[in-house]
Amino acid sequence: MATTVGTTRTQAVEHSVTPAQTHGSVLLHDSQQYVRNAADTLGISTSVFNLINQPDREITVTLPVELDDGRVEAFTGYRVQHSRVLGPGKGGVRFHPAADLDEVRGLAALMTWKCSLLDLPYGGAKGGVVCDPSLHSSGELARITRAYANALTPFIGAHVDVPAPDVNTDERTMAWFLDEYEKRVDRHEPSVVTGKPLALGGIPGRGESTGRGVAETARAMLDNEYISPSQARAVIQGFGKVGSEAARRLHEHGVKVVAISDVSCGLVNPAGLDIPRILQSVQCQPPRLLETYRGDDATMVPPGDILTIDCDVLIPAALEGQIHAGNAADIKAHIIVEGANGPTTAEAEQILSQRGVVIAPDILANAGGVVVSYFEWLQGLQGNRWKLETVRKMLDESMRNAFNRVFLSAQQRKITMREAAYIIAVERVAQAVDFRWSPR
Ligand code: GLU
Repeated sequence: MATTVGTTRTQAVEHSVTPAQTHGSVLLHDSQQYVRNAADTLGISTSVFNLINQPDREITVTLPVELDDGRVEAFTGYRVQHSRVLGPGKGGVRFHPAADLDEVRGLAALMTWKCSLLDLPYGGAKGGVVCDPSLHSSGELARITRAYANALTPFIGAHVDVPAPDVNTDERTMAWFLDEYEKRVDRHEPSVVTGKPLALGGIPGRGESTGRGVAETARAMLDNEYISPSQARAVIQGFGKVGSEAARRLHEHGVKVVAISDVSCGLVNPAGLDIPRILQSVQCQPPRLLETYRGDDATMVPPGDILTIDCDVLIPAALEGQIHAGNAADIKAHIIVEGANGPTTAEAEQILSQRGVVIAPDILANAGGVVVSYFEWLQGLQGNRWKLETVRKMLDESMRNAFNRVFLSAQQRKITMREAAYIIAVERVAQAVDFRWSPR
């Protein structure tokens, strides 16, 4: 039986934002600042900077949806297309009660830089629906998704903007979305979304791809610090699609995963958790929360406690703003690999960098998902089928190339990996903008 330490159950780590700020507004502000710094380094003109730092198009929709009890509730949905300079907009859709326009704007911008950094022929976009999926039946979620797809149909398409799963959405969501869209346009267009079920034109390996890329990035970071996997200790915040896959893979490579958490609790074992056993136990125990784990090899703690546990690599794989000025000084890891989008605030990064902590930034570390989305999009356009081995091989290669470029550039310029990643990403978009819009 897992033992419990501490009596209060906190839902998430404490928030270090003032009442006027939200995690979304901090994320948006920070990402714009990273772009500004990169533009300064690259000597990009103010007019080009203004063009690349503002969203191309923002859509807010009201979705009237009938609930199971017959009431009709109005949900709000967003889709922000930050840039379509390098290709169609690309990015996930999240269902979350705290989703707001600033968050979606910031996340859409991150997608622009992520796709550019990985050299994908995409711009950046993101969607959000304000709802708490844990409070809705599957029928209600289907109707919310269909209403959202219906409202967005005029603004999306395989060559316009291509949604995908994100926080609290999955292949089921994409199936409903695709079906609704195809009904509206009256044709097959599988590449209008990625992250679909295999039966609808999905690609093998898409589900594992973000977590696999995060784990590979963590291994490369450990390698650069001359820490062998068998000596390494990892802590992973978030045990959804990304965190659980990263944990599984790191454990497979001999890394001791000493702590994991989800919203329900943290599980800790300094000698290393039995990840396969936890995965098996949690997966067959709806509601699939770590607090249902009954193994004798773990101490149960409040979820926020795990971020400051002593380890070599910390992987925040939950939501944005989790590592902030209020807890950065207490972080003991010397490597952070960002599985989530925007988990470290700029203020926190400054504190951490001064202490020599190295951060593999989100736009690099968690890019595995969108890389495999690209393969799935190609598969849909070409009407062929990719094999799992090919997907994995091509994914690993893309991640390794991007990692090496960012790492080398950071070393040569003596800057952080995030600064290096933004310089590479911004330069590509700025060049395309210049060719498209410069009169010369
Ligand atoms: N939601 C994922 C991300 O933030 C994947 C996006 C996609 O595949 O379009 O990168």
